[in-house]
Amino acid sequence: MQLSRDSAQQLLKEHGLRLTASRTAVLQALASAGQPLSLGELTKQLEGEGGDRATIFRTLVRFRDLGITQVVSQADRVDHYVLAAGPEKAEHEHPHFECVDCGGVSCLPAGAKVTVSAPEAWLDSVRGAAVHLRGACPDCF
Ligand SMILES: [Zn+2]
Ligand SMILES: [Zn+2]
Repeated sequence: MQLSRDSAQQLLKEHGLRLTASRTAVLQALASAGQPLSLGELTKQLEGEGGDRATIFRTLVRFRDLGITQVVSQADRVDHYVLAAGPEKAEHEHPHFECVDCGGVSCLPAGAKVTVSAPEAWLDSVRGAAVHLRGACPDCF
């Protein structure tokens, strides 16, 4: 999904952030990615337009602190970010798939389900789950 420049800047304003090319570019890249992105992936994508790795890192941390982004995966101990605010935010309740070959993290379709069985006392306690599957993604398989 695309996040327009206007919507991206609106989002920055709502959170009291100064409008910078780098922040706008990071928001737009996250919105259009369709999957969680790591700092490395974002840096590669934004080469030339979004500033350097250090700037993008600071931007991501700031966004996370403000609830604009969310870390939905720590595959390989690397934070993978998604947009958590604005018109293009998406729920990421679905399972995520981590590819051990290319390192990519994919959102599995809503239909993908993992079922859990546990003693009843524990099932009642469950409020949520972060399901993480590992393997070779269809592109690498
Ligand atoms: Zn892969
Ligand atoms: Zn997802």
